[in-house]
Amino acid sequence: MSEKNATAEPQNCPQCGAPAEVRNPKPRRWFVACTKNSELASGHRVLGHPMFTKRDAILEWNKLS
Ligand SMILES: [Zn+2]
Repeated sequence: MSEKNATAEPQNCPQCGAPAEVRNPKPRRWFVACTKNSELASGHRVLGHPMFTKRDAILEWNKLS
């Protein structure tokens, strides 16, 4: 898959297979997170690297799998 044709949708969590969600908590900060993430430090916590754009955030996330 080339960068140009990369999908705009995040893949499922590479660790647990749950759907991932794109988050945009503030301008120019996008990242993808597993929907099964736990707030506990010892819990399941899978985050993609934060990026300036949604597309880049999804690309970073998809590299995890
Ligand atoms: Zn997960």
